Amino acid sequence: MNYRSPISPGVSWYEASVAERPSYPPLEGDIRADVAIVGGGYTGLSAALRLADQGTKAVLIDAHRFGDGASGRNGGQLGTGQRAWPTELEGDLGLERSRALFQIAEDAKSELLAMADDHGFDIDYRPGQISAVHKKRWIKGYRNHTEAMAERYDYPHLAFLDREQTAAAIGSERYHASIRDVGTGHIHPLKLVVGLAAAAKRSGAKLYENTPALDIAAENGGIAIRTERGVVHASRCLVATNAHGDAFDAEPVSPRHIMPIRSFVGTTSALPDDNAILPAGEAVDDSRFMVRYFRKTPDNRLMFGGREAYSAKTPNDIAGHIRRQIGEIFPALSKTDIDHVWGGSVGITLPRLPFVRTIMPGVTSIGGFSGHGVMMATHTGRLWADAVTGHRDDLDLLKDLDIPPFPGGTALRKPLLFLAMTWYAMLDRL
Ligand SMILES: Cc1cc2nc3c(=O)[nH]c(=O)nc-3n(C[C@H](O)[C@H](O)[C@H](O)COP(=O)(O)OP(=O)(O)OC[C@H]3O[C@@H](n4cnc5c(N)ncnc54)[C@H](O)[C@@H]3O)c2cc1C
Repeated sequence: MNYRSPISPGVSWYEASVAERPSYPPLEGDIRADVAIVGGGYTGLSAALRLADQGTKAVLIDAHRFGDGASGRNGGQLGTGQRAWPTELEGDLGLERSRALFQIAEDAKSELLAMADDHGFDIDYRPGQISAVHKKRWIKGYRNHTEAMAERYDYPHLAFLDREQTAAAIGSERYHASIRDVGTGHIHPLKLVVGLAAAAKRSGAKLYENTPALDIAAENGGIAIRTERGVVHASRCLVATNAHGDAFDAEPVSPRHIMPIRSFVGTTSALPDDNAILPAGEAVDDSRFMVRYFRKTPDNRLMFGGREAYSAKTPNDIAGHIRRQIGEIFPALSKTDIDHVWGGSVGITLPRLPFVRTIMPGVTSIGGFSGHGVMMATHTGRLWADAVTGHRDDLDLLKDLDIPPFPGGTALRKPLLFLAMTWYAMLDRL
């Protein structure tokens, strides 16, 4: 029984470069646990690991293979803070809450690296991130942000780079300025998935792939999760289906609040050893609303993401599109070979902050990290596990965020999103 994995147009460089990706059996028959988890990306897997480490009996099911959602296919950039800059969040949330959200993200960063270390798996962490300015009008804001982060958030790791410094750091004349962040870095996302799953299994969690949850319902003071060949009975349940919540309609709340945007990534063939691209090995994201993101792989390819889509239909010639985008930034690569092309669904929310909500008694839904989930999804899964076992209550800060549903219901939200995104794509070009 192999359910069609969430659509990707090809095999990723991550799949091609991960040494081992053990598979897990589908669930056959009924099973009882303290906690049931639906969805085996970073959120679900890190919750399962944390619960199992604390002696709680956890069962996790995924409709496909672990990492077939966003977690095995993303750009691997940890970033700093939440998706929106803390200085932007201050307006709506005030300085104190914005600082607390920033601190959660800093904890996410350090705990991710410590957890991989403690459980003995490698995630290919490389330090350094550059956020590049693609339009002159953003230069001042980036400079101010650098100063505000040091002054108001005690974050001394940012340095503003002018045009010349940026050209030297990226190896491209295309950008007007940038910020270098030496307090963060990037990883191999699928190695994180594989490591989390193996560690959770070793710690005693029961893991099942190719097992979609078809229905989540209350039963006798607990919860029953129905799958094709068995039922998971539990006292608590975490729904961690992110952008894929509407695939099996297991519950209606998450898909109303978390919208999929498809993002495509490609890698070039190996670059010549003497190339001038990213000599210090940072990852880059840029100031477009439709962010372009890139970095070099350990085997010296350029990995580049930026092509997006707002429907389930896979666009034509993704490799050609990515090659053109690469050529705009690195003209010498405008005819480069693209060896791997793949894509995944980014789960976004309206305010681009995580969705954490009790959706029925005993059932919490977590997702919608809006392109910022490598460290935040991993951390939020742990926070939820800690809340369940009574170890800490930092989750409340995320639960209190006001995440409205997308307007237009499931029928109209995609055309509305398409219109909004087309508008932002136009602003990126002006
Ligand atoms: C192309 C791309 C690039 C990205 N780049 C970055 C980046 O550089 N930095 C960053 O921080 N973030 C990035 N992200 C976002 C990041 O990958 C996600 O925020 C994060 O992986 C979300 O993890 P998750 O566990 O919440 O969800 P997912 O990894 O999406 O997992 C959800 C899982 O739920 C399963 N599922 C769905 N329905 C059911 C069901 N009914 N029953 C059982 N299982 C079900 C799916 O099969 C899937 O495995 C990117 C995302 C994409 C797609």
